[in-house]
Order: sequence, then C-alpha cells, then structure tokens
Amino acid sequence: MTVPATASAAGADGSYYQAHQKIYPREVQGRFARSRTLAVWVLLGVYYLLPWLDLHGRQAVLFDLRERKFYVFALVMWPQDFIFLTWLLVLAALSLFFFTALAGRLWCAYACPQTVWTEVFLWIERITEGTRQARIKLDAAPWSPAKLARKASKQLLWIGLALWTGFTFVGFFSPIRPLTTSLLAGTLGPWESFWLLFYGFATYGNAGYLREQVCKYMCPYARFQSAMFDQDTLVITYDSERGEPRGARRRGTPTRTGGLGDCIDCTWCVQVCPTGIDIRQGLQYECISCAACIDACDAIMDRVGYPRGLIRYTTQHALDHRATHVLRPRVMVYGTILALLAGGFLLALALRPPVALDVIRDRNSLYRILDDGRVENVYTVKILNKSELNRHFALVVSGAGNLTLDPAEPDVVVGSGEVMPVVVRVRRDAYQPAGSATIHFRVTARDDAGVSASHDARLLAPAG
Ligand code: SF4
Ligand code: SF4
Repeated sequence: MTVPATASAAGADGSYYQAHQKIYPREVQGRFARSRTLAVWVLLGVYYLLPWLDLHGRQAVLFDLRERKFYVFALVMWPQDFIFLTWLLVLAALSLFFFTALAGRLWCAYACPQTVWTEVFLWIERITEGTRQARIKLDAAPWSPAKLARKASKQLLWIGLALWTGFTFVGFFSPIRPLTTSLLAGTLGPWESFWLLFYGFATYGNAGYLREQVCKYMCPYARFQSAMFDQDTLVITYDSERGEPRGARRRGTPTRTGGLGDCIDCTWCVQVCPTGIDIRQGLQYECISCAACIDACDAIMDRVGYPRGLIRYTTQHALDHRATHVLRPRVMVYGTILALLAGGFLLALALRPPVALDVIRDRNSLYRILDDGRVENVYTVKILNKSELNRHFALVVSGAGNLTLDPAEPDVVVGSGEVMPVVVRVRRDAYQPAGSATIHFRVTARDDAGVSASHDARLLAPAG
C-alpha cells in the first residue's frame, strides 16, 4: 500500500501509533489547587452521602426504576413528568454552553467526574507511592518486597474506593439501606451486582489508568468546546510576550536581564500538568483548564521575585492589548435562553398538579340499558396522588344531562405517591337525548379544594 503524502505525521519507524507515556503529575499548592480540593470534597461528599439522607420516611433522592418513580427531595416525579427530566438535561447542556463561552472549561477543571475521581486516585497514589520523583523511581525499580507493598496498598485502596463508588451509584436507583443488608447477606440481585461491578470497574479504569486519555481521546466535549470559545473567553494562557525568550538564570537576577523574558524554563508548569502538555506552546485542546500550571508558575515567580501571572486566566483580546467584552452577543443569547428556560422550568414545577386522573372505559361492553331505561357505562378511574400526603378524594361526574355515579360520591383514599384504580358505573336518565356524549370526571382532595384534576371520557348510548 502506498503511504500518502501526509506521512510526515509518522514516527521515525514509520508508525502512526504513538505509545502512551505515563504521566506523573507533580503535586502543587496554591489558590486554584485549594479550590479544586474544595470542589472534590463538596462533590464527592454529596455523591457518597446523598443516598443515605432520608426525608418523610423515605430515601430523599432515589431514582426508583422498578416503581417508576423518581424522588428528588420533596419532589416525586412520575413517568408523566419525564418532560421535566428532559428539560433538566437541556438546561444542563445550555449551562455548559453558557459557562464555557464565559469562562472556558470550568466544568472540566472543577466538576467533571473524570477530573474529580482522578484527583482522588492521585491522592491515594501519592499517599502510597510518594512524590512525583519517588513514583518515577519506584516504577523504574525492579520488583522488591517494598515495591510490592506500596503497589498492593495502592491497589487495595483504589479497588475499595471504586467498589464503594459503584455501590453508591446503585444506591441512587435501589434503596440503599436494604441494598446494604443484601450486600452484607450476600444476596445482592444480578442487576445490582452487575451495575456495582460495572460502575466500580469504570471508575477504577478511568481514574486509575486512563486518566488524561479520557479527556484527550474519549470525551466529546473536549472536541467541540473550542467552537464555543471566542477572543473574549477566559482561558488559561502563558504570556509569551512577557515570558520569552525563556532561559535559566541565577536566583535574584532582576527581570529582563540580558534580554531574557520572565520564564526561567524550570518546566514546573509542564510537570504539574495532569494532561502532560506544555502550556507555553499556546492553547491546546488537551488543556482541561485545571489551573495547576498557574499555581506552579506563581510559586516560581514568588521565588525569583517576579510578579505573578506569567501563566494566568485571561482572554486573547487582553493578550493582544485590546478591550475584553464580557457581555457579548453569544453570552447574552446563551444567558437569555438559559434564564428563560430555567424560569419556565421552575414555574412549570411549581404549577405541576399534585394529582392526576386517568379514565379508561370498560372495553368489554359498549353500554347497558337498565330495567328502568337508564343507560349505564362502566369506567376504571385511576387517581394518582403525586403529593407527599395521603389524601381523601371526592369523585364527581358531569356533562350530558342528569348523570349518577355508582358508587355515589365515592371517597377514595390514595396514599402518597400511589395510584388508586376505582371501578365506577355512570348512569344517564332515560329521558336524556339519545346518542353518545362527552362527560367530565373530576377528583378533588377533601382537605384542599385547590388539589383537583379532571378527565373527559365518552359515554356511549344507543342512537335513538
Ligand atoms: S513554571 Fe513559569 S517559569 Fe517555569 S517554565 Fe513554566 S512558565 Fe516558565
Ligand atoms: S496546561 Fe495548565 S491548565 Fe491546562 S491542563 Fe495543563 S496544568 Fe491544567
């Protein structure tokens, strides 16, 4: 096969495959590292503890697939409410667009599960295997009891955390307390076992081994986020005008001595980078905006006595000495749509009826003529109580003349989050006009007249 003219991308051996180089990120301290640590604690705290939180005698957040009910604190969502979940997903996507246009990859840096769990797995690696230098040395060293002990303890902690993560994940879909009992008794169901192991394995593999490769090769957001960037988007950039030409120098050398820029070429910004890139080569799609290079370079600048900010959050316009516009058409369009959708979502949620009604006609008989000449139709009325209270409902029927219900004025008790089917007979007086007609069912909570729902149905009758 002829190798195409673009073969310049091939390596010296003619191969297009670039072997993966393990990255050993150096530990870094600073204001952004502290923010990231805080984000990890908050997000993982919420993730691991939320399923254990109870509200009104049930799990506060539970996506109960078996019962087809989603509990989100006081909200109980039914299959009919799935529009809200779709709405939420649209809101989440738009928020991503809005914040990316405004401040770059904030999601990747602080909130993406891949970043958050990788951070924790890295902490474990540091605790068990030591600093960056120690880890490089350990990997290069031949196997020994000490190396085995360090590697084994890391694996043990990694696997433990991954399994706990998988278990917590399942706990969002299956009540976590009974799940714990089943786990301890060894009676976990096949699906629960599968998802526990699957999610645990995904966490272990992604955060322990794949790490930056997920961001580089697997994450679609990394590919299209640049389409949301413009010259006014906040990005992490190396100020090449100030930093170049770079070069080593003695400590205490005043800035710009001998024509050198402020970059002392210490490579700390590269060593701390979790994706292994050199930010001094310009904006790259691999950069997840974690700001570790800012903290590292600021520490170096402090050491050599130069002003901080050689690597900083800035915009392309600012670097070009032009005015930066935070409020620009793209941001305003995203922001307006987001605000409208979020407002609509909250309004629709607040106005969501706490009761729903469904009426199904008995399909086995069209109608029945009683001895006294009345026409009778049979219906199954289903009352769905979406509220958090057990309620008594009154059921009435109207329309198409003089109608009576059997049972008359039924008092239907429906538990919170339950559906109660009631079979009723609707009778129309004989002297009513002949033919079918539309009738209206209505349920009203006896404790609150504002809690009601109605449903139309057809009453069938002979044509005359
Ligand atoms: S950390 Fe700062 S000074 Fe050191 S190489 Fe990077 S940009 Fe240059
Ligand atoms: S270049 Fe800087 S901000 Fe980007 S991923 Fe690397 S360390 Fe993080």
